[in-house]
Amino acid sequence: MYQFTPIGLIRSGFREKFGIPRQAGLVPAARATLELLPPYSQPEAVRGLESFSHLWLIFVFHGIPMGRWRPTVRPPRLGGDRRLGVFATRSTFRPNPLGLSAVRLERIATRQGRVVLHLQGVDLLDGTPVLDIKPYLPYADCLPEATGGFAAEAPALLVTVEFSPAAAAFCANWPHGDLRELLVQLLRQDPRPAYQERACRAPRRYGMRLYDCDVRWEMRDATAYVTDILPEFPGDVENPDERRREGDGNLHEPLGRR
Ligand code: SAH
Repeated sequence: MYQFTPIGLIRSGFREKFGIPRQAGLVPAARATLELLPPYSQPEAVRGLESFSHLWLIFVFHGIPMGRWRPTVRPPRLGGDRRLGVFATRSTFRPNPLGLSAVRLERIATRQGRVVLHLQGVDLLDGTPVLDIKPYLPYADCLPEATGGFAAEAPALLVTVEFSPAAAAFCANWPHGDLRELLVQLLRQDPRPAYQERACRAPRRYGMRLYDCDVRWEMRDATAYVTDILPEFPGDVENPDERRREGDGNLHEPLGRR
């Protein structure tokens, strides 16, 4: 047995698993901070790291129940109906729930004596505990001759993401960054579970919590149409799953979450 202590915590806009990019780097606009925890939160511990453009993060999939792994899983890339060995996939349900992501390091800051890494291209749930940081070494880690098995290419992108006038206005007034660009990049990844992509005929509605917003969209052929973006307030978010089912039975069901 080995015991590890997190060296830091991720702060991201991804407040639920549904809608998070399926790999790091797919959504460059997905930003996060990694706040180092004492006693690791000292500038000496990251001295020299600023000269690297990318980092490896080793982290805990803290948002899934422990002990639920199976020897085989159904990767979304295979349409959700073919099984592969868990070690042949990047499934979050693993014997040791450890994740590995290569992310861009934008800058390193110090806030109230704490070291904060500003990251881009993350696929990380808010609150993710990070066990280790390693610099990405292009000469060793970039392997142009590598083959990608069942996931050789990046998944196909949706053609368009459109916004209702109200949703566009909400984005224009959002004070924390370019929400519209983030949503375009996120929804072009098509977060729908694979089984729905094939079965889907009538327009279906989806929702995700992103930062302090509840984003809702419809799928119309290869277009994601953002219908509403609602501000979420404390007390409003205790059980978003429950609220969605009450409000609109056609919004994504828990099955749609990974
Ligand atoms: N790049 C990592 C993660 C790939 S799986 C790896 O290969 O190991 C990416 C998915 O993990 C995301 O779509 C999100 O749904 C899920 N995820 C991200 N952070 C998580 C966390 N802390 N707990 C549980 N699931 C998480």
